[in-house]
Amino acid sequence: GRRRTKLDRSYNGPPRQGPVRHISPAQLNLERVYEQNRINIQKIDATKAPEPAPGPAAKGKPRLLLMGQRRSGKSSISSVVFHKMPPNETLFLESTARIQKDSMHSFMDFQVWDFPGQVDFMDPSFDLDAIFGEIGALIWVIDAQDDYIEAINRLNSTILNLQPSYPNVNVEVFIHKVDGLSDDYKLDIQRDIMQRIQDELSDHGVENAPITFHLTSIYNHSIFEAFSKVIQKLIPHLATLEALLNDLCRACRFEKAYLFDVLSKIYIATDSSPVDMPSYEICSDYIDVIVDVSEIYGWERPKEYIEFLEGPPWNKKLDDQVACKNAESVIVLTDMKRPIMLREVNQYLALVAIMCEGSHEKMPSVTMNVEATVTGLGEVFEITKHRK
Ligand code: GDP
Repeated sequence: GRRRTKLDRSYNGPPRQGPVRHISPAQLNLERVYEQNRINIQKIDATKAPEPAPGPAAKGKPRLLLMGQRRSGKSSISSVVFHKMPPNETLFLESTARIQKDSMHSFMDFQVWDFPGQVDFMDPSFDLDAIFGEIGALIWVIDAQDDYIEAINRLNSTILNLQPSYPNVNVEVFIHKVDGLSDDYKLDIQRDIMQRIQDELSDHGVENAPITFHLTSIYNHSIFEAFSKVIQKLIPHLATLEALLNDLCRACRFEKAYLFDVLSKIYIATDSSPVDMPSYEICSDYIDVIVDVSEIYGWERPKEYIEFLEGPPWNKKLDDQVACKNAESVIVLTDMKRPIMLREVNQYLALVAIMCEGSHEKMPSVTMNVEATVTGLGEVFEITKHRK
């Protein structure tokens, strides 16, 4: 509601200057948060030179590439997921007219490239290696409400062109705009699309290409869910993260635990119990609430910091970075009965869990277990960082 309408769609540049006391998450983008983290590191340990952003470190990092026909919904997807645009505002988006590159400096530094639908990217003037050499996943958006035969033909030829040189690129097909379609029809479409792709590929002797299908819409959480699945494949040590969350759920009798990227609301890991949409939606909305509250009541920050970057999601005071408490919160919703808890993990990530009924009475032991899990998660990310 309120928060989302603040988004300035035209703004895409470097951090704004001038003091902005209470910022909305809409104004934050991952790039800026990355910068903040860099400055934090610089201030905490002035002897260590910070990594350039994105600099050489970006090399070898997984890249997400978003492709598809014109008007299939690519710009809408990246605006809704990464720039907090309300879905109905995408009606007025201009269709992608040029290659846009969105650099996302999240915990894992991925990028979304929004390719214009009409460009023949197999044109020899494109530097294929520059485009496909580093990507982790190619997301191909197909408009399910439109005739998709041409989209599939292009996808097939893309896969066939990619296979010889880049056989390990995950191809993620987003069968998109499935809002308003009946469940039966959705599944029919998915079956039809899968069949057409498999037939064509096996005709050309390509078997077992890594292709995954997702039914998506920007009007519900399915697009976030799909991105979670895409990104999870690219996270090193995912199994360790999941094991930590499983242990936490077992120890505290949590119903479900998610590790969220705070800015995009994409979860990057969860325990092994099945994901249900209502619990995911509540957890993701809960992050918004806590971020809003910490914007207003969070720790004060030094003036020069505010002027430079407008503040991290948790509004934390820089000088007390090490000593001050992390954001944490528990809430019991009357209609749900079960408490939800949130605990900041680091600048980008938050642990959000649905507890079982009555378990907030055992908060001391829950808190202890959560602390241990957060420490564990931190250590996993340290290992990942040092391997890079
Ligand atoms: P692009 O050319 O691939 O970047 O496509 P756009 O992002 O400009 O989207 C084209 C149109 O599709 C816009 O009017 C969007 O509002 C609409 N659109 C995008 N995603 C969805 C969706 O999930 N459901 C519906 N119903 N419409 C969508």
